[in-house]
Amino acid sequence: MPVYESDICIIGGGVSAAMLAQKLTELRPHASITVVEAGRSIFDFENRMKYRQRQMEYGENPWHEDFIPDQAAEGQISRSMAVGGQALHWGGACNRFSVEDLRLKSMYGLYTDWPLEWDDLERHYCEAERRLGVSGDPSLYSADKMTQPYPMPGMILSHDIAQMKQWGNQSGILFQGIPQSKNTVPYDGRNACLRCGTCDICPTGAKYSPDFTFKRLLANKKITLHDHTLVRKLTLNEGNDRIASAEAVHRDHPDDPVQYRAGTFVLAGGYTWSPHLLLLSTSPRFPNGLANKTGQVGKYSTGHAFITAYIEIERDVTPGMNPQYGLISREFFRCPTDRPYVRHDLRIWPSNGPRPRLKNDSGEFLLGEDVLTDWRARNKKSVARVRGYFDIHPDENSALTLDPTHRNSLGDPMPKIIHKMDKATEARWPATKQHMNEVFARLAKADNGKILRTSESDYLDHPAGGCRMGTDPATSVCDSFGRTHDHENLYVVGAPTLPSAGCTNGTLTFVALTLRSATAIANQLPASQRS
Ligand SMILES: Cc1cc2nc3c(=O)[nH]c(=O)nc-3n(C[C@H](O)[C@H](O)[C@H](O)COP(=O)(O)OP(=O)(O)OC[C@H]3O[C@@H](n4cnc5c(N)ncnc54)[C@H](O)[C@@H]3O)c2cc1C
Ligand code: SF4
Repeated sequence: MPVYESDICIIGGGVSAAMLAQKLTELRPHASITVVEAGRSIFDFENRMKYRQRQMEYGENPWHEDFIPDQAAEGQISRSMAVGGQALHWGGACNRFSVEDLRLKSMYGLYTDWPLEWDDLERHYCEAERRLGVSGDPSLYSADKMTQPYPMPGMILSHDIAQMKQWGNQSGILFQGIPQSKNTVPYDGRNACLRCGTCDICPTGAKYSPDFTFKRLLANKKITLHDHTLVRKLTLNEGNDRIASAEAVHRDHPDDPVQYRAGTFVLAGGYTWSPHLLLLSTSPRFPNGLANKTGQVGKYSTGHAFITAYIEIERDVTPGMNPQYGLISREFFRCPTDRPYVRHDLRIWPSNGPRPRLKNDSGEFLLGEDVLTDWRARNKKSVARVRGYFDIHPDENSALTLDPTHRNSLGDPMPKIIHKMDKATEARWPATKQHMNEVFARLAKADNGKILRTSESDYLDHPAGGCRMGTDPATSVCDSFGRTHDHENLYVVGAPTLPSAGCTNGTLTFVALTLRSATAIANQLPASQRS
């Protein structure tokens, strides 16, 4: 069996892994680092324009074979398995959480506090914004003070978004463009955004995706990357609780196992596959899986509930310009401690379709000039999609478990995720909905608008958790640096470590925490690997 040895073995090749590997190579240039990724490398940037065209013309997935057909299961499971992970597809929205997220218990008597200080996280937000290349304008709310400005100015607002911003501000709720990892000026060797709006696949490279980082690390011979290789199990040293190896298979040769041996192992497989791998890694001393002495692995899986409204307003628009870009208000990130608890972000996206239609509402065909007359008439008014992502708290049994009825082709049970809010969140949900309806009504009233329809999420977006951090091993899997309580040389980074999912997109927070872990991982390396 082939055996590969390195100082650090990183399992998973998404954005958390990319940021971790990049920082470790700077802190410890002589440490050997192997990244093992189950999916393939999609490093053909030169073909992106072609893939984008096919997506626009035929609706084709522009990231061919970026998933593994039999690594699938029930629940909100992450399917993107390729070098770059889900952040090949991501929208790049990079919102920070706020100090309240870390102090839920001490400020509001709810759920739990995070085991780290805001100032510490804030420093790492600055670093994450620099490494990802975030463009944004300073927050309009003074409580969101940043110690370093965004590395690039915010995106220019299209006519439509500027209209929506004016409308939002008229209601007294302050809106601004969403900070995002898209270049507004050339940055880090990549182009500036052309606002073409096909960000699922960016033909210019203006949107950050982790393949850029991996390609550069490989070109400079800083890391070794083994793609197409699925890690199926971690094993222990004989006689102690240190991790000895990661047992894997190359997906083209499933009958020929390979082994990775390392001084330090880091799980960077995201909120689904990191807890899943720990649960698969059973042994006589850890019959329920590694890092799972107290049965916490998989628990407290979390994410956001959201409520959406479509609101028609009296603004003329010219749809189609940078339609993926939207607005955010941080007005409701904070909740006074003497009021009922409700915290959420508030987002606006224009939603008028950019294309003319060939049939009117009565189903009659439109021909010649009638097509444009209809298009102009429909765009005299504008429809906004308005959404709030809520801070909700998971129940202990909001969990990822192994599903013995669903196995991959290797026979490994696949994960199953069932999300469940805790009792306090459930109890306040009717008040939360009422609050949100009042916010929608306030916005509509500001422009003689009309709420066309509202809907509630039937799943949790921006998932995280499953290996939550904490100081007490009885209620957590790892410490605030991601070091597992049970194994001194095993770390979990990024999404799985979050105790709660905040009230906005989580990736910037996953990356900030990962960069914080990188320093701890570098510091615990033996002296011989530190130079
Ligand atoms: C369409 C879309 C839009 C999004 N937009 C935004 C946004 O605007 N803002 C935002 O904050 N977030 C967004 N997200 C979420 C964001 O992309 C993810 O939070 C982020 O990419 C997660 O990164 P990760 O490194 O934690 O995990 P992942 O991206 O899931 O990467 C984990 C990698 O590890 C590999 N792996 C797992 N287990 C193993 C194993 N056992 N052996 C080998 N390899 C393994 C997987 O194949 C995968 O490639 C979006 C996601 C999607 C899908
Ligand atoms: S708008 Fe176009 S150029 Fe800008 S990030 Fe999106 S795809 Fe790339």
